[in-house]
Amino acid sequence: MTQKVFNDLDVRSYNHIVVLTGAGISVASGLKAFRGPGGIWEEVDVDRYGTKEALKNEPLGMWKLWGALRPLSNQAEPNPAHISLAQFEATVKDDRSFTLITQNIDGLHSRAGSKNLIEIHGNIHISKCSNETCDFKAFEDPEHYVETVPLCPICKKVLRPDIVLFNEMLPEVALERTQHALSRGDLFIAIGTSGSVYPAANFVAIAKQRGAKTVLVNLESMVPANPYFDVELLGPAEEILPQLLS
Ligand SMILES: [Zn+2]
Repeated sequence: MTQKVFNDLDVRSYNHIVVLTGAGISVASGLKAFRGPGGIWEEVDVDRYGTKEALKNEPLGMWKLWGALRPLSNQAEPNPAHISLAQFEATVKDDRSFTLITQNIDGLHSRAGSKNLIEIHGNIHISKCSNETCDFKAFEDPEHYVETVPLCPICKKVLRPDIVLFNEMLPEVALERTQHALSRGDLFIAIGTSGSVYPAANFVAIAKQRGAKTVLVNLESMVPANPYFDVELLGPAEEILPQLLS
């Protein structure tokens, strides 16, 4: 990371900016990785309870797994990376645009004040009815249901967190909004997410084909490298973004 790189990249000279964030942006907020040694889910069977099948067959196990993330992400605070993205968005006016796509379900971008936000994996703080034809409205829900499964007050089906479970498709509306943003973007920045796997790898390819400048901000270099990224800025997002977006 050198000053020269930042001089070369004048974010304000672009009109339609699209940013994708992943788990790496929330580490400085105290949110550890979910899986793996020392992760939040070290002791639970994620592959059994994290899926859409668990929602149907073992909803209490599903709630124990995902519901545990509610108090953890509530204790976390947006860090300078989240905050600088929200502050930058507030300066984007008139015929320019700024779209923030996140893979994170922790809700930290909206708490930081981001407005044009696409949470492609949903938001852990929201509960909704598992019956797609039910009219019960999704709501912000502080409970984490370790003893009983919550039921919909209208149709009595199981309530679920408003997130994309393992084996579930990404929501169509979120994907359409993402496609729209990428189709007109002239600058694409992926932050805290592996640049070589889905979705960052696909999104950067679309952005590059559209002619956008493409940037990866990450702790580590990509392995394998993705040729669609023009620039790699290596270091903690909470240090790089306040400089890049100032
Ligand atoms: Zn219902």
